[in-house]
Amino acid sequence: MSFESLGLAPEILRAVTEQGYTEPTPIQAQAIPVVLQGRDIMAGAQTGTGKTAGFTLPLLHRMAAHASTSTSPAKHPVRALILTPTRELAAQVEESVRAYGKFLPLKVTVIYGGVNMNPQIDALRTGIDIVVATPGRLLDHVQQRSINLSRVEFLVLDEADRMLDMGFLPDLKRIMDLLPKQRQSLLFSATFAEEIKRLSDSLLRDPVLIEVARRNTAAETVTQIAYQVDQERKRDLLAHLIKSQDLRQVLVFTRTKHGADRLAHQLDRDGIRSDAIHGDKTQPQRTKALSDFKDGVVRVLVATDVAARGIDIDQLPHVFNFEMPNSPEDYVHRIGRTGRAGSQGDAISLVSKEEMRMLAEIEHLIKREIPKQVLAGFEPGSASSSAESPRERGGRGRERTPQRRPELPPAAERHAQRASGEGLPKPATNNHHLKQPMGHAASHGKRPQRQVAALLGGLKRKDD
Ligand code: AMP
Repeated sequence: MSFESLGLAPEILRAVTEQGYTEPTPIQAQAIPVVLQGRDIMAGAQTGTGKTAGFTLPLLHRMAAHASTSTSPAKHPVRALILTPTRELAAQVEESVRAYGKFLPLKVTVIYGGVNMNPQIDALRTGIDIVVATPGRLLDHVQQRSINLSRVEFLVLDEADRMLDMGFLPDLKRIMDLLPKQRQSLLFSATFAEEIKRLSDSLLRDPVLIEVARRNTAAETVTQIAYQVDQERKRDLLAHLIKSQDLRQVLVFTRTKHGADRLAHQLDRDGIRSDAIHGDKTQPQRTKALSDFKDGVVRVLVATDVAARGIDIDQLPHVFNFEMPNSPEDYVHRIGRTGRAGSQGDAISLVSKEEMRMLAEIEHLIKREIPKQVLAGFEPGSASSSAESPRERGGRGRERTPQRRPELPPAAERHAQRASGEGLPKPATNNHHLKQPMGHAASHGKRPQRQVAALLGGLKRKDD
């Protein structure tokens, strides 16, 4: 299927081509025609599936049909409202809307908290057709009367499950009360918990249900592994893996903000440039940490679950769970940071004895067993006898002899499993500089396979 066959306006197709997309992803292929018909949708799609373009492209098409070319602010009421749970996601969605709509006379802005309101007020005054916002700051603007939502025709709730997790339900209800009843609403959620179904009942009219990945299924392109290790040895193990395998661009999840700060600090002291991103950091700090990470200035970004939402870095290769998340659904979100846009990724969990139950719950949710490994020198129970790393224990920096390869499917088999996904777009040919369609394994070559192989070396099976 091609984007042309979806019937999108030429200005939109041009922008899509500029992005380097050759074919719609499964969520785009399913959602775009339905949204173009004016129907509400409830879509189960994880980040990384291309869902942003899935809702933005048809919205732009529908809006463009009645777009005013006048520069008068009065001719540009807010016609579309896109709500996201986090600032980072809001910023990224706005960037996408801007890119896909660059040849259309539609104006977009983003509003989120943690920064001065005045520039946002100034922007809104100029007449904005599409607003991407986080709920709290949006309500601040409502209170200050700097935004009027009475002409909204299109509403998108992006990552609705996360918005509920973050306690935004009361804010969402207040916002809904301000919107016209006559509108088109699109709800996106990685998971369909009961509360999401209740929210959709109150929000959507006769929605078309769209699901691209199996519900609660971890991305197929992610290789998952769990190292069993004592809590107090986790930092050593993490530093050891990063250094010995020369891992770059590593996203590490901790459970608490304090834990994130402490770990980033400790890794920095270990000679691994690290920064932390969490809710207590100011927006400029968060933006800087993220851009340093994207630019490779910072090698490790330590994040809490909430702060990491919306981080979209093409081909982010490694995600570590330094601590297991509070809920199994968070694991799905976390590992959604890697293996995006068809690239491969590793999701590596460091699991203490106390966390084994959580690991079992995760496996139950994703309906898949996560291979468990014990790394020589980091065996559980060895922490009390020694807190030093293998290097300090006389290894003089040399790796231990690899014991045995872990029980992961061979690379070729994993590749074949991924590539067998039906209905997935084909890779771009002769266009290797372009982004590959997602859900396809073809882009794995971009990623240093050496690192995966190296990661798998030096491992010792649990039952050895
Ligand atoms: P999302 O799930 O919306 O966060 O998108 C994840 C990534 O996929 C983003 O980096 C997009 O630029 C990229 N993307 C979106 N649509 C396509 C497509 N049709 N082909 C290739 N990449 C895409």
